[in-house]
Amino acid sequence: AAKAAGKSAYRTCTRELRESAVTRAELIADLRRAVDEGQLVMEFQPIVDLATGTVTSAEALVRWRHPRLGVLTPAKFLPLAEETGLILPIDRWVLREACRAAATWREQAPWVTVAVNIAAAHLRRPDLIATVTGAVGAAGLPPRALTLELTESALIEGSDAVLERLAQLRELGIRIAIDDFGTGYSSLSYLHRIPATELKIDRSFVSRLDAGDPRAYATVEMVNRLAHAFDLAVVAEGVETGAQHAAVAAIGCLHGQGWRYGRPAALPDLLATLTPADVTH
Ligand code: C2E
Ligand code: MG
Ligand code: MG
Ligand code: MG
Repeated sequence: AAKAAGKSAYRTCTRELRESAVTRAELIADLRRAVDEGQLVMEFQPIVDLATGTVTSAEALVRWRHPRLGVLTPAKFLPLAEETGLILPIDRWVLREACRAAATWREQAPWVTVAVNIAAAHLRRPDLIATVTGAVGAAGLPPRALTLELTESALIEGSDAVLERLAQLRELGIRIAIDDFGTGYSSLSYLHRIPATELKIDRSFVSRLDAGDPRAYATVEMVNRLAHAFDLAVVAEGVETGAQHAAVAAIGCLHGQGWRYGRPAALPDLLATLTPADVTH
C-alpha cells in the first residue's frame, strides 16, 4: 500500500510539474527562496557493518518541501540547482545541518560518522576547504567523522588544483568517497591520483546480484578486490533483498547501504536505530 501511495504521489508530482504552469523560471525563483525559507529537509540513511548489522555511518540526503508541489526528491530539483549554481548554497546548508546532526547522534553513538554528497561545482571553488572546515568547526565535529561523497564525473575532470584541494582535506582527516562507482566514464588511472578513502559500489550492480547475473557478480567482486588493493573501504549501495545482502557479504564487501538496512528517514528515526530499545525504563 505504501508502495502504491508512493507511486501515485510521484505521478501527481510530475503531472503537477507539467500542468501547474510552474514554469522553469518560477521553479528557479522558488528554489532561490527554498534555503532561506527553511523548505529544505534532511533525511539520513544508515550505512551498516555487513557482518554485525551495526550502523557505522549515515548519509545525508536532501529533500525539498515545496509549498505547492509537496516533497520533491533530489532528481526533481538538483539538476536545476546545478545548472543555476544554486547547488552551492544548498550543499553548504546540507553540510552544516549534517555536521550538526552528527555531533548530536555521536553523543549516544560516538562511532557513527556522517556522509555528505558534494556537487562537482564545489571542487572548482578555492573556498571548498573553508566551507568544509567551517561546517565541522561550527558543529564541533572531528574531521575524521565526515565523509564527502563525490561522483566519478566530478573527479574525472580533476585539475591539479582540485587534486590539491582533496589532498588538503585528507590531511585534515576528512574522508573522501567515490560515489556510484562504476557508472561514470572513468579511467581506472584516476584511482591512482584521487586521495579517496572509500568506494561506493553503485546500486545498478548490486540490484542485479539476486537474479544470479554472473556479470554483475563479477563486477562487484572486481570492484571489491580493486578497493582492497588500493586500501579503500567499500560500501555496497542499494541493498534491498536478503539475497543481495548475502551476495555482497559473500563477496567480502564490509559495508552496505539500502532499504534492507533502513530507508532514508528523519533524524529522530535514525537516532532510534542507534540506541537499542531500553526496556528498563
Ligand atoms: P546517492 O548519493 O547515490 O544516494 C543514494 C540514493 O539511493 C538515494 O536517493 C537513496 O534514497 C537511494 N537508495 C538508498 N538505498 C536504496 C535502495 O535500497 N533501493 C533504491 N531503489 N534506492 C535506494 P535520493 O535520496 O533520491 O538521492 C539521489 C541522489 O541525489 C544521490 O545519490 C546524490 O547523488 C544526490 N543527492 C542527494 N542529496 C544531495 C545533497 O545534499 N547534495 C548533492 N550535491 N547531491 C545530493
Ligand atoms: Mg551519495
Ligand atoms: Mg551513490
Ligand atoms: Mg546513486
